[in-house]
Amino acid sequence: MIRVTVWNENIHDQKDEVKAVYPLGIHGTIAAFLSKDPELEVRTATLDQPACGLPDDVLQNTDVLFWWGHIAHGKVPDELAVKAADRVRQGMGLVMLHSGHESKLFKMLMGTTCSLRWRDPDFERLWCIDPSHPLTSGVPAMFELPVEEMYGEAFDIPHPDSVVYGGWFRGGELFRSVCTFTRGAGKIVYFQPGHETFPTYHNEHVQTILTNAAHFTAPVRYRTTLGCFHSEMTTEERYEKGIPFDMMY
Ligand code: ZN
Repeated sequence: MIRVTVWNENIHDQKDEVKAVYPLGIHGTIAAFLSKDPELEVRTATLDQPACGLPDDVLQNTDVLFWWGHIAHGKVPDELAVKAADRVRQGMGLVMLHSGHESKLFKMLMGTTCSLRWRDPDFERLWCIDPSHPLTSGVPAMFELPVEEMYGEAFDIPHPDSVVYGGWFRGGELFRSVCTFTRGAGKIVYFQPGHETFPTYHNEHVQTILTNAAHFTAPVRYRTTLGCFHSEMTTEERYEKGIPFDMMY
């Protein structure tokens, strides 16, 4: 089982216009569709909970952290962002959603401002750029979101490992809408769509990509004398089961 924690600052979610779109909250909605995958064990966490929803035992027992934040980036303690970034380097997967590009955690892991061009909502068309990437499994080569915020280049991020989807907007703007990074043993997906007042997380293709992202970013477990990572299988056991060498870290 992949242990997923969906974290949300859960502030916009209290407004009627957001409740109308996400009665379960953004975190509850994402957790609900991820939970349909029998390999995912999903829980939610929110900023208003003790330790901002991410006490040490939760962080230590999270394989993949989904993160939605916007207006409360400053309320996340620096120490928590540092701990979460360390967990990513140790192998915890991170799926950073939408306005999370400005979170302390994402900026810490990127080492850049993560600023971008923005304007009022528009239609977005997402084109698959890397069809060999596991995030694209079951998703058409192109799909459209009738309404989504315009995030445009230049996006001040380091060069991604892969730009999996490129976003195009009616104003002609382009954006690296879905891209991946590696930090230490951890995999990171940045996923641009998902403004709180639009039904983006109800879109079937968005749900498929995010479910794929949970699998893609899940840590590879192996036994090690370094003691950094918990493990379930030795190299020899992997050979016996025919798991390809390149699947090992
Ligand atoms: Zn937004």
